[in-house]
Amino acid sequence: MECEHCNKREAITVVGGRKVCEVCARNEILKRIRRDAVSTKTFTYKEKVLITIPDFLKSEGNLLKALLMKACYSCKLDGEVLEVSTKDESDIVGKLWKILRTSMETMKDRGRKVVLPFTADFLMAYVIYSVSTKQKDYVWLLNYKQEINGVVFIMPFFSTSQKELSGYLTHEIATGDSLFDSILKWEEENLGENYELFHVYWNSGKILYGEKYCKLCGAYVTHDGLCQRCSLSTTSRP
Ligand SMILES: [Zn+2]
Ligand SMILES: [Zn+2]
Repeated sequence: MECEHCNKREAITVVGGRKVCEVCARNEILKRIRRDAVSTKTFTYKEKVLITIPDFLKSEGNLLKALLMKACYSCKLDGEVLEVSTKDESDIVGKLWKILRTSMETMKDRGRKVVLPFTADFLMAYVIYSVSTKQKDYVWLLNYKQEINGVVFIMPFFSTSQKELSGYLTHEIATGDSLFDSILKWEEENLGENYELFHVYWNSGKILYGEKYCKLCGAYVTHDGLCQRCSLSTTSRP
């Protein structure tokens, strides 16, 4: 199958619903990162940002850093990487808690934005997980941008699937949470080329939105203050 964009090379994947070759796949993703950054006026030139890279998204995080460094004038960023190991947390909510709380702690008084490499596959699996386990703590991640207690989180891959990234990398996400990983597997086997789904899934997440956020990690809470995880970890400290 020939690339529908350049009509020269062999198509290797689908980006934005079109079959494309490796070169065009890369270009399309770079253009998307640039377009989203410009249209949302998210970054200023050479802005210092924190790029948080969880252990299970290392390749995606490094790719995102490289893309943001060269995407465009206004989003040519000065990125500092924060690697987070989530091995001591067994389920995905605990892992997200670790990632977000560590990011917020690192950001304290430094006024940087936090960039996260969550892809559409990951976030869609998280919505399904949230509905089935009734744990909706961080459903606000299903956005390009979200401000939590003065910290701005940016998820540039929120509408980009793993398959669309395959011009750059082929990586199967495995978080270590078996329920979550089986949802990811199911998505990969059944939705792989269904590009449109990855652009509408976040609307279904909106019904799960809460109103108040935990001060330390951003989890939805019903009363002002800390979420259960944060209050436990704070009281257990000497
Ligand atoms: Zn091409
Ligand atoms: Zn919390």
